[in-house]
Amino acid sequence: MGADRTNDPVHTNDPEWVEGLPDDHLGPAPETAQSYVRAGERLARLGYWEDAYRQLRIAVRLLDVGAEGASGVRAELERLRREHAMASEQALRDCLTASYNRRYMDDRLGSLLDDPVVAAVGMALAMVDIDHFKQVNDRYGHPFGDRVLQRVVDELHKDLPDGAFCVRYGGEEFMLVLPGCGAAEAVAVCERARIRIDRHNWLDLDPELRVTVSVGVTHSIAAPPDVEQLLVSADMLLYAAKGSGRNAVAFLEENGAVALAGPAGGRRDIPQPSSWAE
Ligand code: GH3
Ligand code: MG
Ligand code: MG
Repeated sequence: MGADRTNDPVHTNDPEWVEGLPDDHLGPAPETAQSYVRAGERLARLGYWEDAYRQLRIAVRLLDVGAEGASGVRAELERLRREHAMASEQALRDCLTASYNRRYMDDRLGSLLDDPVVAAVGMALAMVDIDHFKQVNDRYGHPFGDRVLQRVVDELHKDLPDGAFCVRYGGEEFMLVLPGCGAAEAVAVCERARIRIDRHNWLDLDPELRVTVSVGVTHSIAAPPDVEQLLVSADMLLYAAKGSGRNAVAFLEENGAVALAGPAGGRRDIPQPSSWAE
């Protein structure tokens, strides 16, 4: 390798120099290993986890060759590995509610397209929207509203089937993604979540508070599922649930009619597909 090894590694862009140290390499002087450590620490402070990690890995290899001090760098390397894993996880979550974000949902939906369980059983999507949430903010203030959002998400997370996940889709809208879940099971999961939220004990925030959600849940057996179509359908069903009086789970029956789960099924004014385009 013809690279100048006295260079500060941070400014070295030659991939051979960074990646390609031969196994039998005796290593430059120890202070060069230390310069990798310093470079790694600097990159870590700047948030360049992968580059920092690479620099420290090189430092460990150099120190391993014969010098002492590798264990301290190893500990640093381990710390970085953990921080990197945490940063990657946090990049996929909403910081207020800890539910997953849209980026995670897009990634997962992509990988579910050729999932064999989804191909066999289909998948369901449920769009959940808190009812009259603006009034909660208006009455109690935004920070209080934030706490309500967190509690609602806690309730949504309970009792999710294996492989299902909850995404914060927008402000007070959440998506439950239920891969490998049949249509009837998906409706039942959503109806249980709706009931839990309706019955949530708000005593410590305000005994007067009542929070409900409306849900549109849709299912596809197509392989691969048409995610766009599922999203459109879940959205329309959500608005049917709202239009029927809120605090309800709307789904499509086999004959194409919109129905509501549980006791809300007896309501008289359930918006039907023919009226959606009006
Ligand atoms: P609907 O039943 O029709 O859904 O009525 P709504 O009041 O829930 O709907 P609207 O879209 O009018 O209001 C949504 C409110 O959600 C307004 C917005 O301030 C609030 N919101 C969105 N994101 C957050 C958040 O992160 N924290 C808080 N506290 N409020 C939020
Ligand atoms: Mg709302
Ligand atoms: Mg909304």
